[in-house]
Amino acid sequence: MRRGIPELEDLGSLQGRRVLVRADLNVPLATKPDGAVVVADDFRLRASRPTIDWLRAQGAEVVVASHLGRPKGHDPALSMAPVREALWAWYPGLEVMENLRFDPREQANDPGFAEELARGFDAYVNDAFAVSHRRHASIVGVPALLPSAGGRNLIEEVASLGVLLSDPEHPYVAIVGGAKVSDKLGLLERLAERVDRLLVGGGLCFTLLAASGWEVGGSLVEEELLAAARRLLDTGKVLLPVDVRALKASEPFGRDGGTAEPLVFVQGVPEGYRGLDIGPGTEAAFARALESARTVFWNGPMGVFEDPRLRGGTEAVARMVAACEGYRVVGGGDSAAALRMLGMEGSVSHLSTGGGAALDYLEHGDLVGLAALRHSREQ
Ligand code: ADP
Ligand code: MG
Repeated sequence: MRRGIPELEDLGSLQGRRVLVRADLNVPLATKPDGAVVVADDFRLRASRPTIDWLRAQGAEVVVASHLGRPKGHDPALSMAPVREALWAWYPGLEVMENLRFDPREQANDPGFAEELARGFDAYVNDAFAVSHRRHASIVGVPALLPSAGGRNLIEEVASLGVLLSDPEHPYVAIVGGAKVSDKLGLLERLAERVDRLLVGGGLCFTLLAASGWEVGGSLVEEELLAAARRLLDTGKVLLPVDVRALKASEPFGRDGGTAEPLVFVQGVPEGYRGLDIGPGTEAAFARALESARTVFWNGPMGVFEDPRLRGGTEAVARMVAACEGYRVVGGGDSAAALRMLGMEGSVSHLSTGGGAALDYLEHGDLVGLAALRHSREQ
């Protein structure tokens, strides 16, 4: 039991029992020159193995179900066939259901669909933490019908992120970047209540910088959130950039950006320029703030890291977090991608693969899918 969630061991004897595993097999696909569709990165498939292995070792008959991509109705391009084939390398003949989202009743949390899914099973396991903030039939409907437990991945996420929720050692420092304040306002507000210092970079720092009186030129600002930004600044915990790297507003940037080198501006961005990464002075200030941290949470790249010219801040923060001695958690889809791109995925205490679910969990302290496991049918 972790935070009240039953674990695999709590399911009792599984010999000869049919167990439905809601896994996260939402992998990227690629088309080979001969037209064959294959799994491009099997990292999520490998991650599903501890749960499947354990259940099979107990003598359970495992059936796996997942969604794949965002199909609108039945879409052969998003069939589970390539995933099934990849899993068969380890588990020949393993039963893998078709893409759950082919049926609109999955996302509508239709009780009839949950019943169809649960039919013929003796137990249910949720190992899809990354989808556990969604009120979908396979996440919240099925556990109401079957004895249920969290799989190994889900429990590891809950345990690791749970440290940040219950008893983080202080000083606790959070670093938040990424695209928009509007995506993360709730998270920022919640973190500001818990942490000792909140370092802000990425696209969202410009709304806070504007609220603090900076000229921000053509940088990303969400005008309607300036008042909320001011309230965050009033907590006295926010450490904003002191300088930023910027490009002319006309310069293309991103994955297929141009070649102009960014300029560093201190205490403001002139008209006609766009701030796209934190600057060297900010990196130094963030390093000082992180030096003595006993707990660190990092979400969101510090700049447009997809563009090699605008990767410096994210890379610097990744190194600082890696060098820190405290408990270090990194979460968020793009943050995880950035850490993997830098080859540093093994350098933190926990790299959450939970994407938006991890951020929701830290903001709200619970997820609908976790509550459903806690209240699952009596074992
Ligand atoms: P995560 O998935 O880790 O939570 P987000 O999705 O919030 O992160 O943000 C990632 C995106 O933010 C990246 O695509 C990155 O290019 C973009 N971004 C970072 N800094 C800036 C900036 N200064 N201006 C515009 N976009 C930015
Ligand atoms: Mg993202």
